[in-house]
Amino acid sequence: MRIIDTIYIDGGFVTPHGTELFDLHNPATGAVTGQVRLADAEDARAAIAAAKRAFPAFARTGRAERIAMLHRLRDAVAARRADLLDAVIDEYGAPVSRAGFMVDHPVSLFGDTAELLADYPFVRRMGTSHVSMEPLGVAGLITPWNSNAGFICGKLATAIAAGCTAVIKPSEMSARQTRIVTEALLAADLPPGLFNIVTGRGDPVGTEISSHPDVAKISFTGSTATGKAILRAAADTLKRVTLELGGKSPTIILDDADLAQAIPLAVNAAFMNSGQACIAGTRLLAPRSRLAEVEVLARAAVEAVRAGDPRDPATGVGPMVSRTQWERVQRYIRIGIEEGAELLAGGEGRPDGTTGWFVRPTLFTGVRNDMTIARDEIFGPVLSIIPYEDEEEAVAIANDTIYGLQAYVLSGDTARARRVAERIVAGRVLVNSLAHDPKAPFGGFKQSGIGREYGSFGLEAFLEPKALLGADA
Ligand code: NAD
Repeated sequence: MRIIDTIYIDGGFVTPHGTELFDLHNPATGAVTGQVRLADAEDARAAIAAAKRAFPAFARTGRAERIAMLHRLRDAVAARRADLLDAVIDEYGAPVSRAGFMVDHPVSLFGDTAELLADYPFVRRMGTSHVSMEPLGVAGLITPWNSNAGFICGKLATAIAAGCTAVIKPSEMSARQTRIVTEALLAADLPPGLFNIVTGRGDPVGTEISSHPDVAKISFTGSTATGKAILRAAADTLKRVTLELGGKSPTIILDDADLAQAIPLAVNAAFMNSGQACIAGTRLLAPRSRLAEVEVLARAAVEAVRAGDPRDPATGVGPMVSRTQWERVQRYIRIGIEEGAELLAGGEGRPDGTTGWFVRPTLFTGVRNDMTIARDEIFGPVLSIIPYEDEEEAVAIANDTIYGLQAYVLSGDTARARRVAERIVAGRVLVNSLAHDPKAPFGGFKQSGIGREYGSFGLEAFLEPKALLGADA
């Protein structure tokens, strides 16, 4: 049993005021593997006070000093790669085929942010004024469990680049990853109070951070429902808020696509991170003229996806993070059947030979875009084929969603795919690709969020412009 019974405030590990013990599980077996002692609202207030004390001095640091900090943080997190890899596999069941990205991505975010900072124009001349980009103050950084290390490191890197201090509230379900990342960050030897990490429940710790008058900025990644609660809580003190929320991404296969390439890509887009990804392409829009071919190939591809031991390199889909999440996915599979979608692969229950929170990789066809499984974010390996007549209808279906985070367009003709991509209302559209670009903005239209992360847009979400007039010497 692993016991995590300290949080990190003002430059040191301390015992939280909160006393609740929360069980940590290995989702591949369902077994309890440890416990974390959760912080409470008083701990959140102590962390906010420490960050507030550290802010004035940190806000005065220069570019070179912050870049040096980011490089130290990058190296410190890289040094814990093996521990972190172990933790992401055991703690949320990331298949080893995916886990490498989950531990390398946080490291590279520090390097990317340092590069951005090197050239960013903090001071500009606009009209007759001298304009400077000023750090906002204390930033509350709230992360989900599905890429906990990545979100802690990415958000903290941006806060540091901007000159903000931080109170980080990671998901209570990722306490082991958080602990490893915290130890790594500690090794980078930053000033006390610059960052503080309080693992606790959304309520009270997240709510305290999102309503506290001494927090100027919230950067949140998580579900749309929680994002709305945070926006409401932050309204009274007019915090600047960045929200990275859910999605129901369309993958449009155009009628000229080479299906031998397009189908594996579409299935990977749907099942990445075991389907527990905000950017998962869970609506597969197929031209009716090629529907039969798409169904045959997609069924074969889904049936070939191995769901099981996350440590087996052949595994494509690991377990769901929790029993609650497993039950939620089962419920959606039942709803899909009840609403008349045709099950082509998978279905309810566990894959043979598994005992943990494993779901059978599932494929539906004949799905209409008004069915629940086409509208709700399921957050599991469930892919729905939705037929369309022509390009116009494909675009209309793709955009008929409350979300707008990411989309995929697959075609044999890049210029045509690009024309379609330009009509999709989403923060990112990937053409014939599953690539990630950490230098381009990331974030959603509509209810997928507010604001952007990465690059200068991400940095400016932690800054406020200030104009000086008539001050020329
Ligand atoms: P969640 O919204 O349940 O929790 C996210 C975080 O918010 C956790 O740390 C949680 O403790 C905290 N929280 C909960 N209630 C709160 C409240 N009232 N006030 C403040 N904080 C609160 O999400 P989750 O289940 O951890 O993660 C899955 C969700 O995250 C999915 O919807 C997924 O799409 C989304 N997500 C989005 C992105 C993106 O970049 N857009 C990336 C990954 C995950």
